[in-house]
Amino acid sequence: MIFCDSLLSVTQEQIIRKRDSLLAQLPDARNILRGSLLDRTIRHSTGRCKRCDSGGGHAVSVLAIGYPGGRMHQISLRKEQAAHVKQGLENYYALKAALEEICELNQQLLRAKPAAAGKKGRKK
Ligand SMILES: [Zn+2]
Repeated sequence: MIFCDSLLSVTQEQIIRKRDSLLAQLPDARNILRGSLLDRTIRHSTGRCKRCDSGGGHAVSVLAIGYPGGRMHQISLRKEQAAHVKQGLENYYALKAALEEICELNQQLLRAKPAAAGKKGRKK
């Protein structure tokens, strides 16, 4: 199978190129946050604030982070933090998706590598 090698190497090259372009445009990991941004209404107990007494309540944003075992951690956010947190969540999920994709490509590379890598011998 003379074809096979060149076909594989082209594919390999394409995979590497795709992976490297993904790497080049990874979202900034400096501001990443995991979880969900929720809108909650909090109400003070009766007699403590006019707004709540008249049935209004206060809208707050909450960052809810789930942990293994079903544990949940919630952070109430100040108004000016909500946009920053939203961006952080977007960064995290974009970064995570990109990492998954890079792993997929590296898996493909493992399978695409035929004889070339096999001649190094085994180190013990
Ligand atoms: Zn209130």
